[in-house]
Amino acid sequence: MKKSLIVANWKMNPQTLREAKKIFNSLKKGVRNVKNMEIVICPPFTQFSIFNSQFSKNIKLGAQDCFWKQGGAYTGEISPQMLKNLGVKYIIVGHSERKNFLGENDEIINKKIKAVLEINLHPIFCLGETKEEKNKNQTFKVLEKQLREGLKGINKTKINRVILVYEPIWAISTTEKTVDCSVQDALGAILFLRKLISQMFSKKIAQEILVLYGGNVNGKNAKEFLNEKWINGVLVGAASLNAEDFKKIIKSV
Ligand code: PEP
Repeated sequence: MKKSLIVANWKMNPQTLREAKKIFNSLKKGVRNVKNMEIVICPPFTQFSIFNSQFSKNIKLGAQDCFWKQGGAYTGEISPQMLKNLGVKYIIVGHSERKNFLGENDEIINKKIKAVLEINLHPIFCLGETKEEKNKNQTFKVLEKQLREGLKGINKTKINRVILVYEPIWAISTTEKTVDCSVQDALGAILFLRKLISQMFSKKIAQEILVLYGGNVNGKNAKEFLNEKWINGVLVGAASLNAEDFKKIIKSV
């Protein structure tokens, strides 16, 4: 049976520790007996403290971002090493909101992926095209550039720790005029990413690397994506803040 990864990206939510605890406690109860699955919760940095003592076997702590150096004079930044010291296993890198609002580019993403791999954590590397790019039939061209630049200089011994996420920006639930991505479209993009990985590394790595889908996944549609052999899991934004909806996603694995 394939192993699935379900990643919750809480973004800049919720506003209080009390609310965060409530969501997490409700979630924990629903995932006690899950098997063949890893659940990763990526809360805001300010809420990490509530997770440390309470983490259960099936749930791992993740971060939404990091800096590309392990320490030093970088005001306001948080290093992968600091996150590792707090028990973090996975770090999201290259989310489209950071590209859009904070000017992250392929070069920065590449440096962050390397910094995460350097200390043996898992980067969750997000790739995806804008609506304009999709309308101009540039999806594959954009994905290829993002993948090749993001993984520049990463060798075969490290690549199996990278998790890829195809996350079309036009399908993210908070995007203006969001449109659902069909399973066929998601699968097409994911198989394309695997083909590139096969060219860049090896066929075996292309088959083994975990590739997720993200973009408006919820309790109703998760099963369609998770049923696909080549989709190893989902990255969930809005629905992960609703414990009941998130539990439905987990149950559909
Ligand atoms: C995201 O932005 O990472 C995401 C998956 O968001 P949503 O599920 O809300 O579309």
